[in-house]
Amino acid sequence: MDKQMHITPPAPVQRALDALTDADYAAYIVGGCVRDAMRGTQPHDWDCTTSARPEQIEQCFRGFHVIETGMQHGTVTAVIDKMPIEITTYRIDGAYADHRRPDSVTFTDRLTDDLARRDFTVNAMAYHPAQGLIDPYHGADDLAAGIIRCVGDPAARFEEDGLRILRAMRFASVLDFDIAPETAAAIHEKRGLLTCISAERIYAELTKLLCGKRVLPVLEEFADVLFTVLPELAPMFKFDQQTHWHCYDVYMHTLYVIEGVPPVPVLRWAALLHDAGKPHTFTKDERGGHFYGHAKVSVEIAERALRALKSDRKTLERVMLLVEHHDLVWENSEKQVARIVRRFDMETAEQLLALHRADVGAQAYEIREAQQAEADQIAEKLAALKAADACMSLKKLALTGSDLLRAGFPQGKAIGETLNALLDQVIDGTLPNEHDALMKAAQSMLQTSGTE
Ligand code: ATP
Ligand code: MG
Repeated sequence: MDKQMHITPPAPVQRALDALTDADYAAYIVGGCVRDAMRGTQPHDWDCTTSARPEQIEQCFRGFHVIETGMQHGTVTAVIDKMPIEITTYRIDGAYADHRRPDSVTFTDRLTDDLARRDFTVNAMAYHPAQGLIDPYHGADDLAAGIIRCVGDPAARFEEDGLRILRAMRFASVLDFDIAPETAAAIHEKRGLLTCISAERIYAELTKLLCGKRVLPVLEEFADVLFTVLPELAPMFKFDQQTHWHCYDVYMHTLYVIEGVPPVPVLRWAALLHDAGKPHTFTKDERGGHFYGHAKVSVEIAERALRALKSDRKTLERVMLLVEHHDLVWENSEKQVARIVRRFDMETAEQLLALHRADVGAQAYEIREAQQAEADQIAEKLAALKAADACMSLKKLALTGSDLLRAGFPQGKAIGETLNALLDQVIDGTLPNEHDALMKAAQSMLQTSGTE
């Protein structure tokens, strides 16, 4: 990596650096923002590190809105032109009794000491526009080579904070990097430390990991780590499906499906969990292995796993829905596709189809191509329905319940039934979605039911 490279921080960040250096303190941008700027991606936040102590930082930012984010850890947030900038005093972390947080922190005057406490070499670089890159742990080389490597002894660093195990895997997945051999070995060795980490932190890291580019190789290499945090999934590992439909065991199939769906948390979680019920429902006859009712068992496992990880309710419910219906039969006909949209809604239909496409894409080679071609045609039909803004729900029907009441229909459940029957006909193409035509059809339905 070019050590002469130049990073231009946004103006408010430059002002923050200036406010500190004008008062004769040393100040740098540090961590994720340096890493991302060097990779050519826009950093989502800019953190600064400085020799100034927290009270001195506050002094430098008199006149700005300052939030005391964590004074005892040396962190102050200054808001400059509406941009919150985290400014942290150089520090050395004390002992870690709980494998997550230091018992105490000590402030230091040396930037190198501060960089030493950071997790990975690519996260342990500091930069100042006038001084260039400060990189004592050779993060720039690892960044250029695409390597996640602990700063210092990996096993000791994971002992301090077990969350770093998942952070290493997450960065490898998101940045599309490899994990250095000694760091990888320590991840396997120390994975039990993850039991000391809160469910919320694990869930947040896993979600990012799942949405990364390199999720498949990472979860293949570190399946043991995944099973430490999600023991429910362990039975999938090397589970032979014994059917000509599949060329992968349940776990590898699952990883291909994860990779095959768009990087959206609910889809990636649904892909991870969709076949979790298979090992529990396996039966075999002369035709091979079967997994009758596996989707239902997968839903139970998904619910248990996501509740244990304290996932938010919305994600939980959506993932359960997608897992439950992942085996939905998609017929390559406009009418059938429309019926699926009618049964769920457009967004759910799109997500279920994305899962279905990835699922058939991870089946046996002989059937994959034909099935994928068909899924592609179904996707086109779905896209056409969406583009046409077709009437797929009562909301879009050109006739409402109040129209029917005004026309003299008796109040009660007959109104809803009539509207639903009309909607079915519109979706099937036997009725146009036009007010007069619908009203006429409704009246004739009322007459028929009246004469029955
Ligand atoms: P992103 O914000 O994209 O997830 P990041 O590298 O900025 O990536 P943060 O969690 O925001 O990650 O942390 C900022 C910096 O603080 C990191 O770059 C790293 O130097 C340090 N850091 C964060 N968490 C840890 C940790 N658990 N152990 C050691 N250092 C850490
Ligand atoms: Mg960050």
